[in-house]
Parts: sequence; structure tokens; C-alpha cells
Amino acid sequence: MKQMKRIHYTKPSITDLEVKYATDAARNGWGERCYEYIGRFEEAFKAHFGVKYAIATSSCTGAMHMGLAALGVGSGDEVILADINWIASASPITYLGAKPVFVDVLPDSWCLDPEKAEAAITSKTKAIIAVHLYGNLCDMDALLAIGEKYGIPVIEDAAEAIGSVWHGKRAGSMGMFGTFSFHGTKTLTTGEGGMFVTQNKAFYEKVLSLSNHGRVAGQTRQFWPDMIGFKYKMSNIQAAIGYAQMERIDELIAAKRRIFRYYQNALSDLPVTMNPEPEGTINGYWMPTIVVEQDVTFDREQLIEMFQQQQIDGRVFFWPLSMLPMFGEKPENRVSYELYGRAINLPSYHDLSEGSQQRVCRVLRLMLES
Ligand SMILES: *Cc1c(COP(=O)(O)O)cnc(C)c1O
Repeated sequence: MKQMKRIHYTKPSITDLEVKYATDAARNGWGERCYEYIGRFEEAFKAHFGVKYAIATSSCTGAMHMGLAALGVGSGDEVILADINWIASASPITYLGAKPVFVDVLPDSWCLDPEKAEAAITSKTKAIIAVHLYGNLCDMDALLAIGEKYGIPVIEDAAEAIGSVWHGKRAGSMGMFGTFSFHGTKTLTTGEGGMFVTQNKAFYEKVLSLSNHGRVAGQTRQFWPDMIGFKYKMSNIQAAIGYAQMERIDELIAAKRRIFRYYQNALSDLPVTMNPEPEGTINGYWMPTIVVEQDVTFDREQLIEMFQQQQIDGRVFFWPLSMLPMFGEKPENRVSYELYGRAINLPSYHDLSEGSQQRVCRVLRLMLES
């Protein structure tokens, strides 16, 4: 029997270009050239995303930590975000001694429900984090209006939303600040890495000082921090890979969209819903995801088992964060608690072949056709 090739759920798209720039950075990017690729990567990023300021970081988690610190989030404060999320969006809140307040999601976008977010606002609320899940966009008009009404900054965690556009504006460019991740599983990668972006000059300068161990621009004394800062910098070698990926960003996004379309067409007759793309928006489809309709018996562990037998990596939909032992349960977040068990992410790396996608679809048919 022919050996079946494993279908990984993600892996980066790395070409000779990334290797060329990384090699150049490793060989020549030292001394006075030690920030060269970082500068290029940040410039290319700003141009693509339509943002005025960008700071490359070692992770999205670090970018979020610095941004929240710059907003003055601290002990006893509250920050609102959706219950269905990866923990990286919530952890930085706790690093600052503040409390993540988990709010239910909308059934169609799987993102923060604006009405419930508004209802969760208290005198302690310091920020609302809009996380664009799996490429799906939060309702930014509603969230920004709420932020304006209460004088609360809205932040975008756009780690999963490269390629997603809300009525002409790229995800990450609309909030007080935006954060991105370039972890190896993301649409654009540097291995590990992230980006902080903002349109606000004063806020950028604040975060830039924080990111530089508290050294304020214009401080003439060498090695003289004016405050306690952070060390979440990206290396020039990582930035070289990122810069190459920026030259290929349209291709990277197009591949994600092509993979989604294939699944969408191939699975259109099954009782599942997939990532939405409402009128006026573009979905970057970081993770093609199926949610099995409620009247269908479905066991996601069984599906993952079936995938495993066929050498396919299935990936569970994020658990509600409030289910984790370090947070308090919130079963009143009914949509979140109902959703996660019926949903699964499908393999979606850029070079995934149609033959491999067919293999994935065959398993789904076996499970869901009856
Ligand atoms: C991947 C991810 C992060 C974490 O990114 P790191 O670069 O690993 O810190 C944060 N938020 C979301 C929404 C993510 O998907």
C-alpha cells in the first residue's frame, strides 16, 4: 500500500526569497546594519495595512502587553473580550494585574457580541479587545461606536486576520492599536514574532519608549531609562524573513482564500456553516472552520480520531476561556458554550493540494452524511 502523506493543519510558505534575505541578514546584518531588515519590514507592513506607525516585536502577546501597559491598564481594572479565544489575547491583561471579562460571541461571526460587550462595561473597564477570530471580522462599527460612547479604547487583536478587510479598512488598522502574530502557524510568519501598530503618534512614541526598556526618544544620556519598560524586540534575522513574506503577502492571502473556497464548494451540501464574509468585507480565512448544525449528532473527538486514522491533523475550535481552571466559569455565555463542541478547523497551509483537500472532505462526508 502506498504510504499516505500526513496532512498538517498549518505550516509556513517559505521560498528562496525568505532564505535569501535571512542569509543576508545572518551574514551582513550586524553593526550599523543590525536594524536594516527590521526597518524594511515595518515600512512594508505599514504600507500594506494602511497604518502610520508600527513596531516589530518578538510576539503578538508582547505587543498586546506593551499596548495595554501604555493605556495604563493596571491592578483592579477590567478588559472586555470574547469568551471564545486563544489565551494569548487574555494573558497580557492578567500580567498587568487586571481582569479579563469574558463576553459571549455572535453565532455567525464567532466574534465578540457588541451588545453584550456594552452590557459588561463597568466603571473599571479600561479597554475592549476586538479579536478577529479565524479571519472573521468583529463588527468594528458597533464596537468603535460603543468605545466612543463610553470613552473606552477599542483594541484589535488581528493575529488571525491578515487579509481581512472591514469596509475598506484592514483588520488591525481601526482600533486605538492593533497587534499581529507571525508565529509559524499564521498566514505570514517569521518563526516567532509580532507587530504593534497604531495611527496615533503620541501613543506610538509611548509604546516605542516602553519597547526600548523605557528609554525615551531624545534622552541624551546613554543607558538612561526614564521608566521600567519591556524587551519584546524582533531580531533582524526574523525581520528579514518577514520582509520577504511581505513581498509575497498578496500571494499568501490568495492561497488562504483559494483553500477556503475549495472547502466551501466541496462541503456546500453538508449540514455545516463556515467562516462568513458579510457584504462589504473580505475574510482572510486564516483557518477554514466548520460548525456542524445543531440538529446533527456530532462528536468532535470522534472526527479528530477519524482524521488521525487518515493521517490528517484536525484542530479543535478554541474552548471558551472561562472554562479554563484559572478563570471563573461563565455558562451564561450560551453561544460560546454551545459552539466549541460543534466546530473544527480544517488543514489550510498555503501549498495544500486539491488532492489533500479532497482527502479531508471525504472524511467529513463519512462523518456527516447519513
Ligand atoms: C496566535 C495568536 C496570538 C499569539 O501570538 P504570539 O505571537 O504567539 O504571541 C494572539 N492572539 C491571537 C488571536 C492569536 O491567534
